[in-house]
Amino acid sequence: MQKVNFFNSIHVKVVLIYILLILIAIQVIGLYFARELEREMVDNFQSSIKDRVGLVEFNVLEEIMRTRDEDDPTIAQSLDDVLEGLNSEDIIEMRIIDSNYRILASSENESIVGQRSADDLVRDAIMAGTPFQEIFVDEAEGDRVWVYAQPYSNQEGVAGAIYVSADIEGEVYDTMSEINQILAVATAVALLITAVLGVLIAQTISRPIADMRKQALTMAKGNFSRKVKIYSDDEIGQLAKAFNNLTNRLQESQQSTESERRKLASVLSNMTDGVLSTDRRGRINLINNTALMLLNVPRETVLGRPVTEVLSLDDEYSFEDLIHMKEALNLDFSTAEKNAVLRTSFSVIQKETGFVNGLIAVLHDNTEQERIDMERREFVANVSHELRTPLTTMRSYLEALAEGAWEDKDIAPMFLNVTQTETERMIRLVNDLLQLSKMDAAESELNKEVVEFNRFFNRIIDRFEMSKSQKVSFKRNLPNQPYFVEIDTDKMTQVIDNIISNALKYSPEGGIVRFDVTIQNEDLIVRIADQGMGIPKENVERIFERFYRVDRARSRAMGGTGLGLAIAKEMIKFHGGNIWAESREGKGTSIFFTLPLETDDGGEWE
Ligand code: ADP
Repeated sequence: MQKVNFFNSIHVKVVLIYILLILIAIQVIGLYFARELEREMVDNFQSSIKDRVGLVEFNVLEEIMRTRDEDDPTIAQSLDDVLEGLNSEDIIEMRIIDSNYRILASSENESIVGQRSADDLVRDAIMAGTPFQEIFVDEAEGDRVWVYAQPYSNQEGVAGAIYVSADIEGEVYDTMSEINQILAVATAVALLITAVLGVLIAQTISRPIADMRKQALTMAKGNFSRKVKIYSDDEIGQLAKAFNNLTNRLQESQQSTESERRKLASVLSNMTDGVLSTDRRGRINLINNTALMLLNVPRETVLGRPVTEVLSLDDEYSFEDLIHMKEALNLDFSTAEKNAVLRTSFSVIQKETGFVNGLIAVLHDNTEQERIDMERREFVANVSHELRTPLTTMRSYLEALAEGAWEDKDIAPMFLNVTQTETERMIRLVNDLLQLSKMDAAESELNKEVVEFNRFFNRIIDRFEMSKSQKVSFKRNLPNQPYFVEIDTDKMTQVIDNIISNALKYSPEGGIVRFDVTIQNEDLIVRIADQGMGIPKENVERIFERFYRVDRARSRAMGGTGLGLAIAKEMIKFHGGNIWAESREGKGTSIFFTLPLETDDGGEWE
């Protein structure tokens, strides 16, 4: 937690503000009070002295005017007495001076009596006939002294002046400085109390704020359980309440955001399509597992990389191009192991203002669709080819016939025979195709019944044995025990017929065709083996493909359509079995197929 600078803290600020306010208030009050008090005290002091001077004036005039007897004291004596009677602590010296500035009496210094007063104040007072006063600092003591000169007059005019120097320092200023000291101490105490109170008051403000700050910091770490303590019901208390409210709201919205995020993550991770998104500069910031799998890349290496680079589009397109891309792209991510064609469509993440914020790419695995499309194209080409060959043959024979061959008794039947064979082959081909298309559309239904397989199989072999023209011998190796299978007998007959015809077709003169039936687990395994020319190793798997023939010309010459084994494969699949071939070139070929055994011999049969 970042510490608040001491001088920036509310605590210190509040305390300082309090102290300053109190200081200013005390200073203003104190200054005004001290000044007024000083003025008042000086006035009082001066008027008390002036009162006494008035008394002295009265006595002096009386003494001067009085007619003296022999035994009366001298005027100087009398004036001394007057001064003596009125002298007091606060008066430093009092002098009585006549109109010629001669000092008639002094309360302090007898030696100056009779001398002329050199004091300007006295001269000014006598000359002007009005009192004069002045405060000066005594150089020796450093004290302030108030001097006052007041003229006194008889009938003839100004008769002299009374001069007083008074200790204003001791009487007024010392008291004032004592009062000031008291004021200073009071100020210090007040400031101390203020500081303490300030600290306490600042605490009531700063504590809830510090608490809220702590709360905000814990909230930033994702912990919403903490609540701010509410100390009072004032504005700060209200703020704390609002803060707690805000915390709850935040927690709720964070929870809902989190659940939305989880939902989105689960949608993304469970999607069968790959999804990735980019920032506005085209760098990948999100990618789901399906996309990683389809692109065959680890997540760490993809995040943050340009989308054009990851999708290997940087040679052809820029990020700008992808933003404006309306149609989906087919991207080839095939490797040596497997084919992969990804149909990729792009959509732009845009703000209402039109500002592009990023791009979303959806990758759909189109490999299977592409394969089916290619197969379909190939199939159509094959069918067209298969039909065109007999049709061309027939056309040329028919042309020959039309051109006059029909009149030739030797050639005409032969030509007609050829067209007949070709027509039959085409019919066979079309029938085969129809059958396949029915099976493709899952339209053909199996008319199943439970049969004993050995008997069923023997009957088919017997039929071939009776009708075969070649010198090929049959060898059966069937179990003695009965085995039951649930099959569509017509369709299975067609399958077995086809395999046996092939075996016979490709068997050499004097070859043996073997028929084996074995049991493995729950399956019946049938093997039909010949000793014919065999099939090259690399083609063995392909003989079950539609229109595939190892030797096209030969197969055609033998009337084959190239669809027999393809149909057989589909039918065996329909019966829940498997079909495969093993072959050695020049040695012979074995065709195997399995059928699930019927274990439930519930007695209906028999
Ligand atoms: P076809 O009508 O050409 O016989 P099939 O689907 O029955 O069509 O067989 C496909 C191809 O498999 C044949 O053209 C042939 O090349 C090969 N084939 C099938 N059975 C055998 C076999 N017993 N010996 C050798 N080749 C075979």
